[in-house]
Amino acid sequence: MERFDVAVVGGGIIGLATARAILGDRPALRLVVLEKESAIARHQSGRNSNVLHSGIYYRPGSLKATMASRGRASMVAYCAEHGIPHEVCGKVVVATREADLPRLDELERRAVANGVTIERIDPARLRELEPHAVGIAALHVPETGITDFGAVSATLARQVEAASGTIRTGRKVERLLGASTVVVETDADPVAASVVVNCAGLWSDRIAGTTDVRIVPFRGEYLELAPEKRSLVRNLVYPVPDPAFPFLGAHLTRDLHGGVHAGPNAVLALAREGYSWGRVDAREARSLAAFPGLRAIARKYWRTGAAEVARSWSKTLMARELSRLVPGITAADLTPVPAGVRAQAVATDGTLLDDFVIRQSPGRIHLVNAPSPGATASLEIGRHMSGLVLEQLDR
Ligand SMILES: Cc1cc2nc3c(=O)[nH]c(=O)nc-3n(C[C@H](O)[C@H](O)[C@H](O)COP(=O)(O)OP(=O)(O)OC[C@H]3O[C@@H](n4cnc5c(N)ncnc54)[C@H](O)[C@@H]3O)c2cc1C
Repeated sequence: MERFDVAVVGGGIIGLATARAILGDRPALRLVVLEKESAIARHQSGRNSNVLHSGIYYRPGSLKATMASRGRASMVAYCAEHGIPHEVCGKVVVATREADLPRLDELERRAVANGVTIERIDPARLRELEPHAVGIAALHVPETGITDFGAVSATLARQVEAASGTIRTGRKVERLLGASTVVVETDADPVAASVVVNCAGLWSDRIAGTTDVRIVPFRGEYLELAPEKRSLVRNLVYPVPDPAFPFLGAHLTRDLHGGVHAGPNAVLALAREGYSWGRVDAREARSLAAFPGLRAIARKYWRTGAAEVARSWSKTLMARELSRLVPGITAADLTPVPAGVRAQAVATDGTLLDDFVIRQSPGRIHLVNAPSPGATASLEIGRHMSGLVLEQLDR
């Protein structure tokens, strides 16, 4: 059996950032990345909003808060160093009604506690920044940016290979066996590794064998704004999110090529890689239905969930929601483009795990929850995971 010091499961941006960090810390280690698809970054890392988040949303002191703000800075530096397109264009979070104001206040407090530069702005300043957005108050977050996380992943992969790491695509990990040396069973030959790092995204709970939490796949659908309406949005325009729900609400983001996307919404996917309503995995759907956490979510969020589903099926409803932020967007201006699916870990009591979650046992390190801003924070998560791997190897 082939032997490695470290095997990383998953060739998404975090698995690759982790592999790069490990080889940067200990160049002599024998390391393999096992990726089930024929190429890297085919799932969350290649199907997201490409936003470099600043860290305003997250609970002060949480891993998300520290890793997003540090990660954003290191990602901007990484993109600059490697010639990866990016822009620090800033964003606005817009309160459109009185009820949003206490939430905007709370967001402002969080941003300050997390050390993120922000400015509370009035409608006149909002018009200067985003001439077509309307609101009664807003936050301007100049540090937010946009990039191409697919290009970042490709650069990380090149660095891993240049540092003598092996990336094996088309290799699905089936299970982890053994103790002091872990046997990684795959759909081809098994490999042995002293430490296995599980960065399998939508399948991370399966690889970890968790029983108290489960990945619930939430699809995020996008609509592209017609070219003649692009001028309605200069950069990134967000609503004030519901703090009880870990998604940001339908927003408008410009990409590096001038295109403007609306979304992502958040609807339950009926397969882990369920990129459309038509992709249903009957076994997964049954196992989701039997998961007590999902029933608890359904009870708690049925109203929000029903509205998201309605907007998923009706461009008119989506256009109406977006028009609260930027009037003048109609259903005819919106064209569906490929969706992404978020790997959101949910506890059996229905709690949506808010923070990044890493679990360890001898020979195994599992990244159990790494939703947004996981791509922004990937270099920091990678550094942290490398530290845990070296601790285990040195024990
Ligand atoms: C709609 C959407 C919008 C988002 N927007 C943003 C954003 O704007 N900014 C931001 O910072 N973050 C954003 N995120 C979050 C971000 O994309 C993720 O946090 C990040 O990509 C997670 O990276 P990952 O490597 O953990 O997961 P993934 O990219 O999903 O990688 C996991 C990899 O593991 C592989 N794998 C799974 N099972 C196995 C197995 N058994 N054997 C071998 N390989 C396996 C998969 O094929 C996959 O390549 C968004 C996510 C979504 C879905």
